[in-house]
Amino acid sequence: MATHPAQDRLNGKVAVITGAASGIGKQIALLFAEQGAKVVILDMDKDAATQVAEEIERKGGSAMGVAANVTDEEQVDSAFAETVATFGRIDVMIANAGSQHVEPIHKLSFENWKKVTDIQLDGSFLCTRAAFRQMMKQDDGGCLIYMGSAHSHEASAMKSPYVTAKHGLLGLCRTMAKEGAQYGIRSNVICPGYVKTPLVEKQIPDQAREHNMTEEEVVEKVFLKETVDQTFTTVEDVAETALYLVTFPSTALTGQSIMVSHGWYMQ
Ligand code: NAD
Repeated sequence: MATHPAQDRLNGKVAVITGAASGIGKQIALLFAEQGAKVVILDMDKDAATQVAEEIERKGGSAMGVAANVTDEEQVDSAFAETVATFGRIDVMIANAGSQHVEPIHKLSFENWKKVTDIQLDGSFLCTRAAFRQMMKQDDGGCLIYMGSAHSHEASAMKSPYVTAKHGLLGLCRTMAKEGAQYGIRSNVICPGYVKTPLVEKQIPDQAREHNMTEEEVVEKVFLKETVDQTFTTVEDVAETALYLVTFPSTALTGQSIMVSHGWYMQ
C-alpha cells in the first residue's frame, strides 16, 4: 500500500475511534496519527488501547487510550468528555467496535443476539450522540463514519445478529447525514469484505464446524467466494478509505456506504 507523500492531511483534527485497540480500528488510528491527527483509542481492552496509544507516541504522534465499553452510556459520555478535556475538540468519530457470533437462529440465545447488536447499534448510537453534541457546539463541521460490512448489503446464513446490525448502521448513517447537514457534519459507512483480523480468525473454526468444512474450504468457499479475485481486504485498504472520507473536500459525500471488498457486492 502506497504511503501518502503529505503527512499532514489531518493536522489539527481530533479523531475518536472505537475498537481501535485491534485490527481495522488500530490501523485507522496509526494512519490518522501519521497524518497529524490527535487520536483517541476508545476500547474496552484498556491495556491494548494504552499500547496502541504508546506506539503512536513513540512514532512522534499524539494519542490517548481511553477504556470504555461502547454499550455503557456513562462510560461513553465520560470518554468523550475526557477527549474534549484533553484535546479540546472532536472532528471525527469512527464507530468501529464490533463483534461476531456464528450460529443458526434456532440455536441462537437472546444473550448472544444482544451481545452483537448492542455493541454495533446501541454503541454506535451512544458514540454518535456524544460526538454530535460536541460537533454541534463547535459549529465547524465534522465527520461520522460507521464500520459496516459487505453484510450491510448482503446476508450470510448463521450471522443474523451481525447482518441485522450492519444493515441497521445504514439507517443511522443516512439519518445522521440529514440531521448533520445544517452543521456541516457528514456521515458515511465503510463496508469491508473479509479482513484477516482477530474477529475473522476466531470465526474460521466456528464456520468450519457449522458448515461441516475444513478451515481451508471455509476461506475459499465462504469468505472469498463472491470476491472478483479471491483476495482478502486488508486493514490498510479500510484505513485508506476512512482517510479518503475524512479528507473529502466538500459536503457532497454524505449518507453513503462504500464497499471495500474486492468486488463482493457491487452497488
Ligand atoms: P477486532 O476483533 O480485531 O477488533 C475489535 C475491537 O473492538 C477490539 O479491540 C475490541 O476490544 C473492541 N471492542 C469490542 N467490543 C467492544 C465494546 N463493547 N466497547 C469497546 N470496544 C469494544 O475486529 P476487526 O475485525 O478489526 O473489526 C472492527 C470492525 O470492522 C467491526 O465493526 C467489524 O464488524 C467490522 N468488519 C470487520 C471485517 C473483518 O473481516 N474483519 C469485515 C467487515 C467489517
